[in-house]
Order: sequence, then C-alpha cells, then structure tokens
Amino acid sequence: MTVIPSDSLIPNPAHIQAETMLARQFGRETVNYFSSSPLNRLSFLRSDHPFLSAALKHPSTRFVILKDLAPLTKAPAEPYYARYDEIRKLVPDTIYDKSEEEILKEYDSRKTSAAPIFLGLDESRERDGAAVATPLTWKIYAGTPYFALDVTPRGSEEQQAQSKAVIEEFEARGLSFLQARVVMSFPANEAAIYAQARALIDWNTRNTFCGTCGHRTISVHSGTKRACPPTDLARVAEGQPAERPACNTRTTISNLSFPRTDPTIIVAVISADARRILLGRSKRFPPNWYSTLAGFIEPAESVEDAVRREVWEEAGVTLSRVVIHSSQPWPYPANLMIGAIAQVSDPDHETINLEHDPELEDAKWFDVAEVEEALRSGVSALGDKPGADYKEGALRLPPPTAIANQLIQAAISIDFLSGEKNSKM
Ligand SMILES: [Zn+2]
Repeated sequence: MTVIPSDSLIPNPAHIQAETMLARQFGRETVNYFSSSPLNRLSFLRSDHPFLSAALKHPSTRFVILKDLAPLTKAPAEPYYARYDEIRKLVPDTIYDKSEEEILKEYDSRKTSAAPIFLGLDESRERDGAAVATPLTWKIYAGTPYFALDVTPRGSEEQQAQSKAVIEEFEARGLSFLQARVVMSFPANEAAIYAQARALIDWNTRNTFCGTCGHRTISVHSGTKRACPPTDLARVAEGQPAERPACNTRTTISNLSFPRTDPTIIVAVISADARRILLGRSKRFPPNWYSTLAGFIEPAESVEDAVRREVWEEAGVTLSRVVIHSSQPWPYPANLMIGAIAQVSDPDHETINLEHDPELEDAKWFDVAEVEEALRSGVSALGDKPGADYKEGALRLPPPTAIANQLIQAAISIDFLSGEKNSKM
C-alpha cells in the first residue's frame, strides 16, 4: 500500500490503516480534505481562562489569521501562522484575566475587542519536521496551542486602528491574504485547521446580535459560543436601568447560542446495471465539467430521503438503495457534506427529466470507462486546466480534494461494490 506523504492534499491519519472487523466488512474509511485535523480540540478547556491565558502567551503558540475570511499566507499553498507578539496590539495579554461570569456582569456594548478562538493543541510536538522544544504543558495535555484570529477592522475606532496596524505590518513583510472563493491549495493538515478557523470566524461575524431578542451578543468559550448578556452598562449611560429587556434564551437552558453546521447531501448515482454513473452540471462549470448531485437536507428529513428527493428534483431519476460513504466538512460557510452512493433499481427509473427543478444545466449517464478515463486525465480544480493527457471535449471531473471525486471513485470501484454485496447493509 502506498503511504501518502503528510504534505499531501489528502489526509492520511494513522487510524485508517488499522485492522478492524468493521474495516474488513465495509472497507477502509475515506478521509476527505478539510477533515481529520491534527489538533486535539480539548473543547472542555474553552472556558478555562487560566489555561487560555497560558496558551495565548506561550512561545510555541500559533495564530491562524483571517481578514474578510481570506487566510494570511506566505504563498497560495502555505498559510502563515503568526506568533503572539505579532498580534499583541490587537489582543491584550489580560483578556483572560477575568472569569466569563465577571466579563458578562461587566458587559458594556460600547466596548469591543478582538476575540481569539481557541482551535486546539497540536500534540505531535513537531513543526516543519523538527521537534518543538518547549510545548505548552497543562495538566495531562501537552502540545502547541493554535488560535484563530479575525483581523478584519471592525468594532470600536480603537479596535479598527489596531487591526489596520496589524494588517499593515503583515503586508509590509510580503505576507498576503489569499483571495479565493474556495481555498483548496493547503496541504491536508493545514486545510483542516483553516477550515475550523474559517467556519468559526464566519459564524461569530454573523451572530453579533441575539436571534431571539435582537440585542448584541458577546463571544464566550474562546469564540465557540455567544451569550446574550442580561445587562449592558451602555444602557446606564443613557439613563436606563442596566437590565436589558427579557430574552427567553436566558430562561431556558442558557442565554447561549452555538455554532451551527448545516448538513448537505452529495451523491454518486449508479445505474441499475452498475455500468453507468449519473452526473450533472451547473451553468457556472467550465465546458465538459460534470460532478455529483448535491443539496441541503431539509428539516425532518433523513439523509437517505434527502438523497432520493434531490436526485428526483434535479434529474428526475428515482433511486432505491442509498448508502452513506463518507463526509466532508465544507467551511463555505458551515456545511457538512454527507457523501452517499445510491442506485436505481429499475432501468425505467433512469429517465432523466430536468423540468422539475431547473437547478442543473444538464444531467447525463456516463459509462464507467468514460468516467475512469476522466479520473485519469480530466480532473482539476474548478478554475484550473486539466492535465496534458486530457483530450479536448472529453469529460472533466472535480479533483480528489472534493468529496465528489472520492464518491465517483468509490461508485465505479469493484472493491467497494463487492464489499457492499457481502455486507448485511
Ligand atoms: Zn437575547
């Protein structure tokens, strides 16, 4: 078996090589791009301010920096991780001195500050192939702390000025914020860290007001929750009582809101005879480029039902068995793509009809041989050209970093299908 180098685009965590009965029965786990982060999130330490305070200032600590959701980079395939000294202007070393309880009690909506997000500890204790000399040790945990920080100028004038100063210093050193609709150029480990940072920064930016009462919220639990404080000292300055109007988020479980993940389905569809694959294309794709069908899971819908509904709505094809294959976090902005393989049970159900939902420009059945050739010579990122072997006019497909590619590979793979036949699924 080829071992994928760690700087590859496809994650290769140790657990996928392990021998288990489940792996024998269902095949090896497919680990998709943006997943399998090297960080231990240690979610239970996110409200532990003494820990966060030590982590913030530790010499090994690194910060993923985003501006308007664009990551700070040395080169398109190389994110730049900042040290605390480089962002100190924006994040005072006293931010974790008070407990969350005290911070909420003293809440004043006129004051704003940058809120770093604790992402986790890299317990490998390695960086750039060398051992980290002094990892942070906290109780039984040891490693390199990672935070995410949004340096987009926002909030008070003072905060905006500090953000601009930090940005200018980075840019003066030749670093730049990578502008791309979808960033998929980082090696697997960096991509997973970036995905977590991007999804959380985006959620915090969109949830500065309470969804129930409409008042300002405050970031707590190191950027992984937002609270709707019961009082606001800014009201006192206006001659009102500090207490805000009632918000029923405070009388239920808590006055907190949590980052969301929106599930979507994405599916490789196999014909009744298993010799063809159904693929579709949207208008924004380059010529000859096709992909798997996808869509949001709706309230009160199972994954399998959502797969059958989407494929019927977009292509008019009626599916029978649906098998969940693997999943991919998709931080644009907060989706989890649940990848499935599905099959039509009767050739009569294969007729394509694009008239229900006009989302696709085209949908077509492709012979397995044509798909195999496209996987060999016609894959590339959406904006890139295919390889030298590509013959003009032939089918083009998404790259291996996209779950669509992994699903197509699995759907035409005899190993996967024979595994399914042997299983009791
Ligand atoms: Zn509220």
